[in-house]
Formats: sequence, structure tokens, C-alpha cells
Amino acid sequence: MGGASPERESVTISLSSAPGSDLGRTIIASVALAATVACGDSTLGNFHRAGSGSTDSLLAAGYEGVDSRGIPHYATSVDFSSDDARVLRAAYGIEDPHRLYVSDSTEEGLLKYDTQVKRCFTCYVNSYRVGYVSVRRPGESWEEAERRVKGSNRTFAPYANLTSSSLNDLDPDVAPLAKVMLDDARRAGFRLRVLATWRSPLREAFLMAEGAGRTHTLTSNHSYGRALDIVVDDGNLRRPRTRSDWISFRRWVTSHPTVTGESFRILGHADSTWDWPHVELPSPKIGFRSVDEAVARGRECLSAGSAVPCNFQPHLPASLNHQTVR
Ligand SMILES: [Zn+2]
Repeated sequence: MGGASPERESVTISLSSAPGSDLGRTIIASVALAATVACGDSTLGNFHRAGSGSTDSLLAAGYEGVDSRGIPHYATSVDFSSDDARVLRAAYGIEDPHRLYVSDSTEEGLLKYDTQVKRCFTCYVNSYRVGYVSVRRPGESWEEAERRVKGSNRTFAPYANLTSSSLNDLDPDVAPLAKVMLDDARRAGFRLRVLATWRSPLREAFLMAEGAGRTHTLTSNHSYGRALDIVVDDGNLRRPRTRSDWISFRRWVTSHPTVTGESFRILGHADSTWDWPHVELPSPKIGFRSVDEAVARGRECLSAGSAVPCNFQPHLPASLNHQTVR
């Protein structure tokens, strides 16, 4: 979260019904517009293949990372077939596949979708990780989900399972790693307080509707129990000592691998970020690394009788599995 304030209150949100399904809608217009790309390799079929092999790296770079102004390299040059666009819309709520991109390595190279084109360095746009659990309803586009959440009536009420600050509510694979990391960091002299661990997708929706802080997303590693918000010292970044300790901790946590060899990650840089407390351990099994992966799973999950869910399901302690995430 963007601030150091605790996120302890519980809340429920009344979200109005989604309008009728746009399930079968295709995205012909924008597909047609994108046909004039400088690819030149017609053997690639409908996609400029990305991600899966080293020989594809130059083509994958077509929609990877950001430019010098911090603007994502959107998949504007990818020639989506109308059927691929249909699958992305139906399975993943993508209204315009040309706003897909693969974020750079600081976020594990995940396929993301922006509901608006980011046009300047300081312009804030909402980005969604494709395939992450969220309050987006089946058949709903991200644009529709965003409007619904922003326009929702919010009702505060006791609801214990919406958010947690307990390490025991992390993914059972992550919890022991987080405990060791915190113990080691404290032994190294850092004064740390865990503000949040698991958050339900509904909680993410509330935070986005509320507009507090600068991190507004409906797709989060908190919902997978794979992220923690940790405050250093008194949490007051205006105090030089706190700021310096916090920067030191952010350097420390990213340079001390866990016993599994993975390192916790931070957002932004050690000394500059929009989200100081956030520390996460992403899983390579959650999310997509290319458009092709998303289309392939989308085709599978949409096929009749498929047992494969479109979104990646969290691995959480049993005590959290009865959560209401509608
Ligand atoms: Zn966080």
C-alpha cells in the first residue's frame, strides 16, 4: 500500500450487478487498426511469438518493458486474430488486446493489461495482472469491473477474513520463508512491524474504490498470500533516520535469498517507490509471461466441461478458503 497507515478495519462492499454479458464480443476494430505492423515475418501466424524460447526474444521485446519515459511497450504491433481477441475478452476481460504488455523483470515479467494507455511518466493508469484472482466477474471486462468498483456503495461492517496481518494467513509455502526472513532481519538490527499479509480480492476492490494511497489494483500478490506490508521503525518517511533504515531494509531483503534460493522482491527501487511497505515473493506458476500463454489457457478454460480455471487459484490456509470474494 502506498502509505504506512495500518489497514486493519474490516469492510464489506455492495457491488451492483454487472450489466449483461459482453461475452461474445469481439474486438474487430482495433484488430484491424493494428494490421499495419512492421513485422515482415509472415511465418509467425497471428502472433509475433513471445517468451517461450530464446530465439523469440527480439519479438517478445515488442511488448516487453517500458520506454525511457516509463511508458509500457504495449502490444500495439501484435496482429491478433479475431478468435484470439475473443478468447482474451471472454476468459480475461481484455477489451483491447493492444493494451497488453509484459512488465519488466522487476515484476517477474508478468503479462499485464492497462484499461487506459499510459501517456506520460507521471500519468497514473490502472494495471491488472492477467489471470490473477479478483472481483472481476466472469464475462466482465476490466473496464466494466473498474467502473463497477469505483461506483460501488461501500459499507463498513465487521468481517474478519477480508484482510490479515498474521503470517499464518500467508500461502503455507511462503509463511515459513517470511518468518525466517523477518527473524533474520530483526537479528540484523531492523525494527519491523508487519501491517498486512493476506488480503481478499474484495479488500483490494475496497482500497481501489476508496482511492487511498497510490497503489490501486484489483490484482495483487496479497490475495495469494505471497506479499507482506512491512513498516520500518516508526514508519515516518519524513524522518531521515527512518527513511535511511527503510532503504537499508529494502536493500537487505532483496539481497538475502530464502532457503529455496528465491529472494523477496520490492516495488520500484530501494530508495524510491510508490509503495514502501510492500514485499512479495511472486510465484512463477501464477500469471502469464506472454500473450500466447494467456490465449492457450483461455482456450482451454473456456472449452466445454474444462476443469481448468481461467484464473490461477490461490494456495491458502484452510481457514481462509471460505472467504467471500464476490
Ligand atoms: Zn502490499
